Amino acid sequence: MPGRKFCFDHKIRMAHERTPSYAFNIMTTNAILNLTEPTEMAQSNQSLEQNTQSLYWQAVLARDGSQDGRFVFAVSSTGVYCRPSCPARRPRRENVTFFRKPDEAENAGYRACLRCRPKAAGGNGTTEMVKAMCRYIEQHLDEPLTLARLGEEFRQSPFHLQRTFKSVLGITPRAYADSCRMNQLKDNLRAGHSVTRSMYDAGYSSSSRLYERTASQLGMTPDKYRRGAIAAPIRYTCADSPLGRMLIAATDKGICSIQFGNSDGELEQGLRHEFPFANRRRDDEAMQSWKKDLLRQMRGQRLNAALPLDIQATAFQRRVWAHLQSIPFGATRSYAAVAKAIGQPTATRAVARACATNPVAIAIPCHRVVCKSGDMGGYRWGVERKRALLEMEHV
Ligand SMILES: [Zn+2]
Repeated sequence: MPGRKFCFDHKIRMAHERTPSYAFNIMTTNAILNLTEPTEMAQSNQSLEQNTQSLYWQAVLARDGSQDGRFVFAVSSTGVYCRPSCPARRPRRENVTFFRKPDEAENAGYRACLRCRPKAAGGNGTTEMVKAMCRYIEQHLDEPLTLARLGEEFRQSPFHLQRTFKSVLGITPRAYADSCRMNQLKDNLRAGHSVTRSMYDAGYSSSSRLYERTASQLGMTPDKYRRGAIAAPIRYTCADSPLGRMLIAATDKGICSIQFGNSDGELEQGLRHEFPFANRRRDDEAMQSWKKDLLRQMRGQRLNAALPLDIQATAFQRRVWAHLQSIPFGATRSYAAVAKAIGQPTATRAVARACATNPVAIAIPCHRVVCKSGDMGGYRWGVERKRALLEMEHV
């Protein structure tokens, strides 16, 4: 299998632009001078307006970040509006209209620029944009990620994007993606998954070249790392629940598995399958309080604190699962609505997959996601249990 191609280290040289100097405080001075006769005032207002526009335009030409938040400029030829500091190419003056607030520009039919994010909170468009790039990279670790593709997404030249990213984070987008993958890989290995699966799930291709590079970053081979990490103890209990036998398992850090089954044997076999290398020990007493909490949660009682979870997830699963936890008791959402809520409206199927791989029933209430048609949809622990849960929640 050919390795992923990265084009992050592409180097292009470009001269730095000179920032033109201009005086921004003229505007205030003129405003104070405007208090004379009504007719004269109207006249001065007009000239102030012109003067303001001319100062705004100078700020735009200078990409003056100190003016971010004071106004936005909209470009009729593109239908987009920007912060003064937007790094995009300057438009022609005759195509530019100024607005005090992003909302005004939007009311006039303009869209927010994806590059400078004029609506984002915080004065610094560059930082906001780099944050958005980080989120994007985290969510696409399992896809080939090139500077060109990032550039397309954020409407910048690959060169410019790399420079901006590096100026904020000190590392290249590629290095950032690498470190995300490495963290994911460590998590997966610690969970006791096989090296192949861990690498694959972390977005690595399984070439031997990558295996070697990974080994050098880990300081040991992934296999050795895994063997060292997997001695982790897992305690578990099996108990009765309204949905039949229930297994709860936990590491030192939190609950790692909540399953339903027909018998303890079946549940224990599942746990062995999921954590083949862990040190599994049944400990009903130690798990007592979590068991009680979970049964209370099933009945819709509020817990004093959310159950601590210790689960592995891809960036995408993490987003879906976090959203599921925000669906209140007694409510449901469609798979499509969840996809939309996490900002990936076309990812309905991926959302369904994330629900189907939820390792902790109830704690992550994947049973509250149903089909748009009103159909029940699937459930990892059987549709009958899903129906019973929703009935308990009076849905
Ligand atoms: Zn912009």
